[in-house]
Parts: sequence; structure tokens; C-alpha cells
Amino acid sequence: MLDVRSCATLSEAAGILSGDRQALLIAGGTLVMRDVNEGRLTEGTLLRVTDPAFRQVNAGGARVEIGAGVTMAAVLANRDLAYLHAAARAIGGPAIRTMATIGGNLFAETPYGDFTVALLALGAEVVVQAGYGSGRAVPLEDFLAGRERGGAGQAQGLVTAVQFTRPQNPSDFLFRKISRVKPKGISVLSIAAHLPASGGRLVQPRVAYGAMAPVPMRARGVERVLDGKPLDQAAIQAAKQAALEGTRPATDAIASDWYRREILPVHLGRLLAGEPR
Ligand SMILES: Cc1cc2nc3c(=O)[nH]c(=O)nc-3n(C[C@H](O)[C@H](O)[C@H](O)COP(=O)(O)OP(=O)(O)OC[C@H]3O[C@@H](n4cnc5c(N)ncnc54)[C@H](O)[C@@H]3O)c2cc1C
Repeated sequence: MLDVRSCATLSEAAGILSGDRQALLIAGGTLVMRDVNEGRLTEGTLLRVTDPAFRQVNAGGARVEIGAGVTMAAVLANRDLAYLHAAARAIGGPAIRTMATIGGNLFAETPYGDFTVALLALGAEVVVQAGYGSGRAVPLEDFLAGRERGGAGQAQGLVTAVQFTRPQNPSDFLFRKISRVKPKGISVLSIAAHLPASGGRLVQPRVAYGAMAPVPMRARGVERVLDGKPLDQAAIQAAKQAALEGTRPATDAIASDWYRREILPVHLGRLLAGEPR
């Protein structure tokens, strides 16, 4: 039998999640309810969190914190988060965006997870609370590596929020999702890039991919060839050549691994050059 329980505080939910292996958080429920409706989830306790901190956004200062229960629609309604609007708009259709949370997106199996790709390129940290203690900030990349080791969908405690440094220049942040069906299509792949520059040269650029590995990944080869260079034709060509380093795309109902490898350098080049799809 399935129970639903409401928790008034984040700490109550985190405590129950760590003590009861059959307890599962339900955030927007766009994935959890699919499992319930299709009979894959029939036992345990679904935990709802009503703590307002779960849906809080602090986006005005240099350090941004977004509660894990914040929906894609709420991101789109927040002008301080305009650089994340393309990523939020890439998630499903309007009905899904009204429910889907950024916390749930961190756990969504590839090729889902488009918003997480954007957070990875922003160098985000995930605040994880295990038990009744206080939360600890974990680099998103480590969190995703843990998720890959533990198997998709395996909870690693309650994620209460994500944090990152706001891009100084919002136009330095780029996001693109490639799908066969527009709008609302599932990702063939997605790319996010944060490209801060000083004196005409890129400084510690961060590039991330979705659907090019079992979990969203950093494009380290691309970052390496771009760092310290002006974003000119030569740098873009070098980035395209390094684009596939470390990728391990899957073949699924959306695209083959071959197709994903073929189109990634093309779309990366277009994104970096500011060209339309
Ligand atoms: C029709 C449809 C279209 C979709 N399109 C896209 C798309 O284009 N791109 C995309 O990326 N995704 C897409 N999704 C997948 C999904 O809607 C999103 O990934 C969404 O962000 C998941 O969030 P949620 O709050 O609904 O997760 P839920 O269903 O509530 O939870 C998903 C999993 O994450 C766990 N979880 C959720 N929040 C937390 C937390 N704070 N701490 C610990 N564990 C947590 C849950 O226990 C569960 O295991 C789509 C889904 C559907 C049904």
C-alpha cells in the first residue's frame, strides 16, 4: 500500500527519508506519479514537503540559492533568473513546467535532466540534508557521479536547494536543447555554456552536456581548449574537435549513440558562434 505524508519542515522530511528505505519524496510528481499510475510504485510512503523554504528563491545577490521545490514555471516568472529561462522553458510543456521542480530534475534519468545541465555549467552546488542535522553543500558534479554509482533514481538524502554564483554578465550564459519534436520534445542532447571573458579572452569557461553520458557531464576537453583564448573561429574549431572527449551517449527511442556523436560538434559550434539552430 502507498501512504502519503506531509512534512512541515525540511528536517522532518530528511529525517524520515534517512530512516525509512520505503519513503520517497514527491516534489512535482511528474515522474513519481507516472510510476504510481503505471504500477511500478505500489508500496511505501510518499513524502510531501510544505516548508516554504523548499520553494524559496534568493536570486538578487552575487550568490544565488534556489529551493529544490521551486518549479520551472516559478523560474520563468523570476526576472532575476532570466539567464535560466531558456533551460526552464526546455522542460516539457506548460502543464509539466507548472509541476516539475529543479530538485526533481536532478534525479531525472537521461535523456531528461535538461535544467541540471544548465546548473552544471553554472558550477552549482547541491545542498543535501541527510537525517535531522543541517544540510551540506556538494558540488553538483560529485552529486551526479554519486547518482551514477548508486543507480538512476536512487535518493542520496533530501536535496533542499541548489546554490551558485550568479553570472556577472547574463549574456555569457548560453543554453540549447536539440530535440526532434518542437516544442515539448525529449532531448537528443542539450548543451549549456558559461563563457566569462576578461580582456577579450575566456576565463575558466564551463561547458556541460545532457544526454551524452548516463548523467549530465562537464565537457572538460572543450573547456581546456577554450580557456584563455578569444572566442574566435580558431577556438570554436578547436572546441568542435574536442567536443566528444569523455562522452558516452546511449541509444534510446529518441536517437542512436552514433547520431548524438555526429550532431554534438555541429551544435556546439553553432552555440559558441551565436548562430541559430
Ligand atoms: C510529459 C513529460 C515531459 C517531460 N519533459 C521533460 C523535459 O523536456 N526535460 C526534462 O529534463 N525532463 C522532462 N520531464 C521529466 C520531469 O518532468 C522533470 O525532469 C522534472 O524536473 C522532475 O521534477 P519533479 O518535481 O516532477 O520530480 P518528481 O517526480 O517529484 O521526483 C522525481 C524523483 O526525484 C526525487 N526527488 C525529487 N525532488 C527531490 C529532492 N528535493 N530531494 C530528494 N529527492 C528528490 C523523487 O523522490 C523521485 O525519485 C518530463 C516528464 C513528463 C511526464
